[in-house]
Amino acid sequence: MFVDAHAHLYDGDPKSIVQNAKERLVQKIICASSDVESMQKAVAISDEFDEVFATIGIHPQDAESFDENVISLMKKLAKHPKVVAVGEIGLDYHYDGPAPEKQKSVFLAQLSLARELDLPVQIHIRDAMEDALQILEQNRALLANGGVVHCFGGSLDDAKRIIALGLDFTIGGVCTFKNAKPLQETIKSLPLEKIMLETDSPYLAPEPVRGSINESKNIPFIAEKIATLKGVSVEEVARKTRENVKRVFKI
Ligand SMILES: [Zn+2]
Repeated sequence: MFVDAHAHLYDGDPKSIVQNAKERLVQKIICASSDVESMQKAVAISDEFDEVFATIGIHPQDAESFDENVISLMKKLAKHPKVVAVGEIGLDYHYDGPAPEKQKSVFLAQLSLARELDLPVQIHIRDAMEDALQILEQNRALLANGGVVHCFGGSLDDAKRIIALGLDFTIGGVCTFKNAKPLQETIKSLPLEKIMLETDSPYLAPEPVRGSINESKNIPFIAEKIATLKGVSVEEVARKTRENVKRVFKI
C-alpha cells in the first residue's frame, strides 16, 4: 500500500478522492493545510474519513496572518487525534509575498510551536533554500520530532544538509517530468530510508497525466519513477516509504 504524505483535499471532493485513491492502493492521505481556513477544513476532513490525517500550519505566503489567535487555534486543533504535524511552514521567495524577515520570524515561531506540541514539521521551501537551511541549522533543538521537506527540489548538497538535520523528504510529481534531470540525479543518491511520496494535489500531476487535476490516486506513477531511478521494485518503494511515514508521522 501507498501513503500520500501531502495533499490538499479541501480543494476537491474528498469523498471521491479517497475512494479513487484506495482503488490504486493509496490507503492513507495526509491533508496539508496552509492557512486558518484550510487547517480547520483539513481537520474536519480527517474527522470524516479514517484514511485521512491532517497538518496544521501557516504557509509562508500567508505569514502576515500569523498572530496570537492563530497560535491559540493551532494549539486547540493539535489536540485532535488525527493531527500529525505542523505544516506547511517555511520560506517562499518565489512570489512578491510577505517580506523575508516576516517569513523567517513566522517560520521560527511555528518550529517552536511544533516542538512545544511534540509534532513533526512539514516544511515548504521555494527559492529560499539557503535562508531556510540556516534557520533550521541554527535551531536544531526544535527539530527533535523530525519532519519532512516537501516537494524537495534542491541539490545533493542541500539534501545532505537536510539529512544531517534528521529530516526526511517527500517527493512529488515533479520527479517524473522530462525536464527534471537534476532532481532525478539527486534522487538516485538519496537513501530510500529518507523518502516519502506526495502528490501536493491538486497541483503538479505527474507524467503521464501531467496537466490534469492531480489526485492522490496518482501516487503509483511517482512510486514507479522513484523505483526506476533507484533500480528497485515498486513494492520496495511502497514498503520503505510506508515505513518512513510511520516513523515520522506515527501513522
Ligand atoms: Zn502543498
